[in-house]
Amino acid sequence: MKDKKRWILSLVKNSKQHQKLKTKLQEVESLYQDSKEKIRQLEIQNKDFKNRFHALESKVNKLTPQVYLRILEIHLAEHCNLNCFSCSHFSQLAKEGFPNLNQYECDLKRLSNLTYGLIGRFHLMGGEPLLNPNCKDFFQVTRKYFPKSAIWLVTNGILLESQSKDFWESCKENKIEIHPTKYPIKVNWEVIEQKCKDFGIPLIFFNNTQVIKASLKFVLEPKGNCNPLDSFVKCGMANNCVQLRNGKLYPCNIAPNIQYFNAAFHQNLPITPIDFIDIYKAKDYHEILQFLAKPIPFCRFCNLAKWKSIGEWKTSKKEIGEYLE
Ligand code: SF4
Ligand code: SF4
Repeated sequence: MKDKKRWILSLVKNSKQHQKLKTKLQEVESLYQDSKEKIRQLEIQNKDFKNRFHALESKVNKLTPQVYLRILEIHLAEHCNLNCFSCSHFSQLAKEGFPNLNQYECDLKRLSNLTYGLIGRFHLMGGEPLLNPNCKDFFQVTRKYFPKSAIWLVTNGILLESQSKDFWESCKENKIEIHPTKYPIKVNWEVIEQKCKDFGIPLIFFNNTQVIKASLKFVLEPKGNCNPLDSFVKCGMANNCVQLRNGKLYPCNIAPNIQYFNAAFHQNLPITPIDFIDIYKAKDYHEILQFLAKPIPFCRFCNLAKWKSIGEWKTSKKEIGEYLE
């Protein structure tokens, strides 16, 4: 701009005209600066508007019943061989525990009838699902009742290398995809990648292979003083990480696993019959989807305003402070 101004002024020799032109050019320059500032302010407003729109859209989505369940999470093991800080499933606090295969089959049969087999994707997880010595039986039952759904095994990968041929064959036969989360621990991913290649099983990392897992802190409010609606609409798990446990569906994975927090720290954050929907009492899919799209009384114990990333992944000391402000 300055160079252009100098060049235009050099073309005019008459001093009066020169002055007039100089004034005009100064006005143009000032207008140009004003417009630049206005554009900058508009860009800030636009960004703010977009953020508010996305926050509102996310709240509306949480409170809107899904057309059909996109994701259903199920534990194949309650406990874990990793010990993560503030685990949202409380698996670092849980004692060894596995679902009963017969009960699992009844639940999936009932769910299949209720949903007409329409569930987008199963996350068979935990805890660490590979601690369950009968994973392949759970794969087979899930595939039997949901022939069209995606089935993901969600694992930390520690036990993948030591799995037997039966396990890999069952993955292939039942079209299981393996979705590990990479933690900053020693796992021989090359051997696992080769095994998956040999059996034609998709291996897709949950977090980008280069990303170092961060630790999150899920802060609870044991007095239950939070606004349940406020917690629910801000919660990333609500109506998103739906969990099936013993024939009951919960809108997230904090409520169905709170028993481990209660037992470890002598607390009593209660789960009542209106915190879940029983698949044997629900009259149809519609009723289930409606239930999952609204806050449950337990939401009053989740202090969403204080949930945060605390930086690099770290291990748990199994202290109640991991879940308190
Ligand atoms: S690996 Fe997953 S389930 Fe196990 S303690 Fe860590 S976060 Fe919890
Ligand atoms: S109880 Fe409510 S707020 Fe807490 S994790 Fe579940 S859905 Fe989210």
